[in-house]
Amino acid sequence: MIQLYIPLNFLGVIYREIKQNLIDLEKMFTLMDREREVADAPGAEDLRTHGPVDVRFEHVDFAYEPARPILHDLSFSIPAGKTVAVVGPSGSGKSTLARLLYRFYDVGVSPAQSANTNAPAQPGGHGRILIAGQDIRGVTQSSVRRAIGIVPQDTVLFNDTIAYNIRYGRPEATDAQVEQAARAAHIHELIASLPKGYASMVGERGLKLSGGEKQRVAIARTLLKDPPILIFDEATSALDSRNERDIQAEIQNAARGKTTLVIAHRLSTVVDAHQILVMEHGQIIERGTHMELLLARGRYADMWALQQNAERSEENL
Ligand code: ADP
Ligand code: MG
Repeated sequence: MIQLYIPLNFLGVIYREIKQNLIDLEKMFTLMDREREVADAPGAEDLRTHGPVDVRFEHVDFAYEPARPILHDLSFSIPAGKTVAVVGPSGSGKSTLARLLYRFYDVGVSPAQSANTNAPAQPGGHGRILIAGQDIRGVTQSSVRRAIGIVPQDTVLFNDTIAYNIRYGRPEATDAQVEQAARAAHIHELIASLPKGYASMVGERGLKLSGGEKQRVAIARTLLKDPPILIFDEATSALDSRNERDIQAEIQNAARGKTTLVIAHRLSTVVDAHQILVMEHGQIIERGTHMELLLARGRYADMWALQQNAERSEENL
């Protein structure tokens, strides 16, 4: 009996963990990396977001594991209401920027170290991230997350109705507001064509949606949440180029007037960005507008030429 009791109790703990994580959909983004939560400083206050909300990364270093630095002395800013796009090869640290801004991790401190709050910060790890002039380590994590809407690379939906999944962005929203968000994200027509409409079950045990459809649900949810800051980590191979172009248009609509970080796989998304950052090995190797970067004839210009060629041959198939 004793032997049985312990593992069962242990399972209970795991179950609670999983359940806890499912409660916050945006933690899914986290769940994939299974990192530790960062802790609020004693007496931390909420982030203040009235007035213009700009984002600044100042000399940010970051490592998931002390032996393997990922970001090095990274600085950039997103003026309030503008869009900054990040491009670069897989593994260069793009999604890490998004995770730091959403405060899944704290700058300069690896998860193992933040588990032990007395441990010193990792050697050489420094820098800070400011939202509307406030260091995000000094305010409550929940208030940082309220200020940000994320459309992650892979959206995971709840096993619940499609209305629930959209309303998650703002639980008190009316049916009309949910529908308005779905229309703006170009998912309303599909939903309306289902026998049960907005009451259709989605997720593992319900209707299976494609990658692009799930991303539209996530966009609808973010539109409904209407936060001052948006983060898009664009889906890659899951979408064909037409679908991806449609989603890009939706992202651009959503981003109007918001302080936005777009991680882009297709460069056509970034043409209108206020600034484009080209990342490689955790550093920004080039930055500028689309035109400036083309004229600089550097890495971005090479990437652009390659993608133009690839798209032409795709269209000729
Ligand atoms: P990108 O989004 O540009 O493809 P990421 O920011 O996801 O790159 O990853 C940057 C680097 O950090 C990669 O080398 C990746 O292997 C590593 N990395 C990402 N997540 C973790 C993690 N949870 N633990 C350890 N290393 C990680
Ligand atoms: Mg990524």
